[in-house]
Amino acid sequence: MKLPRIIRSLLLIIFLYIPFQGMAWGLLGHRIVGEVADAYLTRHTQKEIFKILGTESVAMASNWADFIKSDPSKSNYSPWHYCDFKGGASEQEFHTFLDADTTVDAYTKLNFLVAELKKNTLDQETKAMYLRLLIHIVGDVHQPMHVGRAEDQGGNKIKVMWFGVSYNLHSVWDNQLINFQQLSYTEYAKAINHPSEADRLIWSKEPISTWMWGTYQLAEKVYADIKQPDQKLDYRYNYDYLAPMNQQLLKGGIHLAALLNDIFKKR
Ligand SMILES: [Zn+2]
Repeated sequence: MKLPRIIRSLLLIIFLYIPFQGMAWGLLGHRIVGEVADAYLTRHTQKEIFKILGTESVAMASNWADFIKSDPSKSNYSPWHYCDFKGGASEQEFHTFLDADTTVDAYTKLNFLVAELKKNTLDQETKAMYLRLLIHIVGDVHQPMHVGRAEDQGGNKIKVMWFGVSYNLHSVWDNQLINFQQLSYTEYAKAINHPSEADRLIWSKEPISTWMWGTYQLAEKVYADIKQPDQKLDYRYNYDYLAPMNQQLLKGGIHLAALLNDIFKKR
């Protein structure tokens, strides 16, 4: 049976607009963090990164760690993207958990990557791989559902309705809320990259554990706002969470820049 031309055209349009799912902080979130970071790199850091990545920008290098998920030989990197814990933890409990953490997760692997990149004994290929992983994971640990609860796999098991379409809470935070803003990553970075000097200085000095406590606190608020299965999220959710999400993206970029400037500083 041959479908009428108009139907075929409509099917093609629908197919082209089915959004990609399952990436962490979708393409956009990671690139925004990378683009913000780029604005705060020292000349020296920029030169060192150029030696490793060439003309590949920090923003474009940020997605590689998700792209390798399509390569079965690299499946062991999957737990590097998140660090889940129980809900309702105090700040003290959270830090005790991180201090004792020896499992493969975003926290232990970020510390591993920083230490490895500082050594400066890696071959060129490993250095590029570790740098791309580091850029990506710094972004991930600012997405609240990447420092969420283990029991629901960081919101992956929580079904919600986003403007009438079924998604899980994790993917709303990876993709839907950020894509809803309809900005390119460069437009987005330009729009949010206006920290006060005081905030920028404070955020630049924070250790990784403090970043993660901040993300965890936002995750707790996100969880508390989900009160029933298939909860409807739409304009009001965007209104409530746009500012906290943008702050996470901005902090992510500033944290990433500070970390890269520290790793590559002249010793
Ligand atoms: Zn990721």
